Amino acid sequence: MKLSKRQQEILEIVKEDGPITGKQIAEKLSLTRATLRPDLAILTMAGNLDAKPRVGYFYNPQSEARQNAASLAKQIVNNYKAHPIVVQKSASVYDAIVQIFLEDVGTLYAVDKDGLLAGVISRKDLLRAAIGNNNLEELPVSVIMTRMPNIVTVQYNETLLDAAKKLIHNHIDSLPVVREVDGENQLYEVIGRITKTTITRAYVELLETEGLEVKLL
Ligand code: ADP
Repeated sequence: MKLSKRQQEILEIVKEDGPITGKQIAEKLSLTRATLRPDLAILTMAGNLDAKPRVGYFYNPQSEARQNAASLAKQIVNNYKAHPIVVQKSASVYDAIVQIFLEDVGTLYAVDKDGLLAGVISRKDLLRAAIGNNNLEELPVSVIMTRMPNIVTVQYNETLLDAAKKLIHNHIDSLPVVREVDGENQLYEVIGRITKTTITRAYVELLETEGLEVKLL
């Protein structure tokens, strides 16, 4: 729910001074009690405020947490994506390991010669390949990567909530952010990366920019 300026002012007053009566809020805003009544009714019905008879209005922090969660859910992947680290699918496992250290990432995306998404290579894929294999320079990543059609992707215009659900349901750490080139043939251009860290960072940034950091009591 989008609050009006006056409703926001009321919330601020109740946050600071609650529990506080309707009459006292009206005095602080230099308005009459009757003028404020509809706003107080809305804020109480929406759950932003709680009211107790003979005590007054007090602030309900849970409603803020709900609003924060809702605003996080609506954010678009494209505004939060990180830079994707890609390797050619013909690159060696050895080069992929070097790349993962140099770029300080947990997952690489393999592309074909047209630059389209061909595979995902995670830390565990590389560890698995490294066990008992002493010729990593000769082994192409295409042999060990998770490949199409098994790659879970997120479109640039999906929401962070969509991305978070995919990460959780598929037990993976990252998703390539893609733009469809030819959906029927599953041809995608990789334009970014969403990881568990991206989503955690988005959560913190949203709370900070909206000044809504929940104070632990
Ligand atoms: P780690 O290996 O570091 O634990 P993940 O949990 O992300 O990283 O990877 C586990 C497995 O899932 C690996 O085999 C990897 O190739 C695969 N995987 C990772 N991301 C995706 C994805 N977006 N789509 C499909 N498979 C993936």
